[in-house]
Amino acid sequence: MKYISTRSKIAPLESSEVILKGIADDGGLFVPETIPKVTLDEIKSLVEKNYVGRAVPILSKFLTDFTEDELFESCELAYDWFDTQSKVPLIILLKDEASKNSPVGIMELWHGPTSAFKDMALQLLPQLMTRALKKVGETKEILILVATSGDTGKAALAGFADVPQTKIMVFYPADGVSKIQKLQMVTQVGKNVNVTAVNGNFDDCQNGVKKIFADENIRAELEKSNVKLSSANSINWGRLVPQICYYFASYAEYIKSEAIKLGDAVNVVVPTGNFGNILAAYYAKRMGLPVKKLICASNINHILTDFFNTGVYDRNREFYKTITPSMDILISSNLERLLYHETNGDTERVKTFMTELNSTGKYKINSSLKNRLDKIFYADYATEAETSNFIKEIFDNYGYLVDTHTAVALSVASKYRKNTRDMSPLLVASTASPFKFTGAVLSALGQSIEGIDDLEQLDKLNLITKKDIPKNLAKLGTAKILHENICDKNEMAEQVLKFVVR
Ligand SMILES: *Cc1c(COP(=O)(O)O)cnc(C)c1O
Repeated sequence: MKYISTRSKIAPLESSEVILKGIADDGGLFVPETIPKVTLDEIKSLVEKNYVGRAVPILSKFLTDFTEDELFESCELAYDWFDTQSKVPLIILLKDEASKNSPVGIMELWHGPTSAFKDMALQLLPQLMTRALKKVGETKEILILVATSGDTGKAALAGFADVPQTKIMVFYPADGVSKIQKLQMVTQVGKNVNVTAVNGNFDDCQNGVKKIFADENIRAELEKSNVKLSSANSINWGRLVPQICYYFASYAEYIKSEAIKLGDAVNVVVPTGNFGNILAAYYAKRMGLPVKKLICASNINHILTDFFNTGVYDRNREFYKTITPSMDILISSNLERLLYHETNGDTERVKTFMTELNSTGKYKINSSLKNRLDKIFYADYATEAETSNFIKEIFDNYGYLVDTHTAVALSVASKYRKNTRDMSPLLVASTASPFKFTGAVLSALGQSIEGIDDLEQLDKLNLITKKDIPKNLAKLGTAKILHENICDKNEMAEQVLKFVVR
């Protein structure tokens, strides 16, 4: 399998090169030349395997320059310290016997070291990168630059800390992440890590990082110090490919639980921000996973809902801070890959869309492209009140506790069922532990959080719900603060040079 760019015809590259580069030289994203197929028989063969056994056959279809042994070893190391044997538990909510044919399967993607779904990819990516460095004979040090809206940052830090031949630097919006997310990042240990707050929002951070990647002078200065830039943001192919695996793994688990049968079509629901997680589901569907609709769930920053429903992507709008901060995004970078595939690889058109987005903040797709997307996607959003209400409703009805992002997905899924009367089984991506967003979750349950700090809220939520606090969060209160760096959004490049060169 070789990889090409979404924006122009480039010479195809191996997956190891693509994982190290992160972004194509023409500014486009890497995409596989073809989308491999998975048969129902292959899916059947996954049912009796464990998570790693289910992931490796999927990975090996994309990462063809890695051996099965390398992929197996990488996965074992990546997922070893997850806090459950199954790695990705599937919780099935069933109201009553009558709703047996319309189960709601929730895949908990947050049992990794940071209690959010980005661990699924960011634990595996460093393993793939160190092996890729050897494959291409690279001797320079890799500097991973990350812009984060909260969860990516810590997950990347945890994945890369003290990984040989790498350094990692994370930029986060000073007032755009939860206190717990911030504590998780500023307490990160490791000789090769830097964490810097930026006076601005997530898009400012992401734009700053994009500018650094595009700046020839900075690259040259880094090269002189034997450092090469790379990305761990969800535009990196090495981030996406581990995410495709869990859709297959959870479908296999769904069969194993006997709530669905092999071949049954499910609707996949994903709380969406940068469009990475749902794009992975799109690849899984294209590969042959029995998926009917991809349900794209947004919060009140519903730029994607509007895009799918009107055909216009328009970022000229107000930006809201919500109780689902990891979805407070106005540029969903991975959408570019979808546009590439659904225009049958029309790089000129994709490039035009992205140029327009860059200059005017918007672009419009034609009706034939919109019709294609309509067949695949359903998009809607949840208001803040709907999100809170769902947390309470699910807890009251099922004794099951979800975080705010997962509640957005469940709320939109319920609208979908009401509007379409399609009661097919649901596969819902649960993207964070409820203990990562305790304030909003406690409020949703009708509890006052006044005067209770974030760490005490962990205990309160535990007391009220009798759910366990994930270990990594329980120990935050006593961890030492190691990073207090802060900068303006136009100083980010300078900070990078300060970290690795000066
Ligand atoms: C990152 C994140 C999302 C959004 O995922 P994308 O791949 O960016 O669409 C949703 N929920 C949580 C908790 C996240 O951390």
